[in-house]
Amino acid sequence: MNMGKACRQCRYVLESGDKCPVCGSTAFTTFWRGYVIIIDPEKSDIAKKMGITSRGKYALRLSR
Ligand SMILES: [Zn+2]
Repeated sequence: MNMGKACRQCRYVLESGDKCPVCGSTAFTTFWRGYVIIIDPEKSDIAKKMGITSRGKYALRLSR
């Protein structure tokens, strides 16, 4: 099952491609758990807590 991979820098979850569209990083991990979908980062407390400024899907925990 392909769950996508999470950016090691900002935790953005990418379903395809090799470069994070948010921070430009190319370091990913497929070992992650849980996610949040940020629709409006400016109004989201979770986004603020996690330091997210772009909308998208983000992993809650990276295992490695
Ligand atoms: Zn990133």
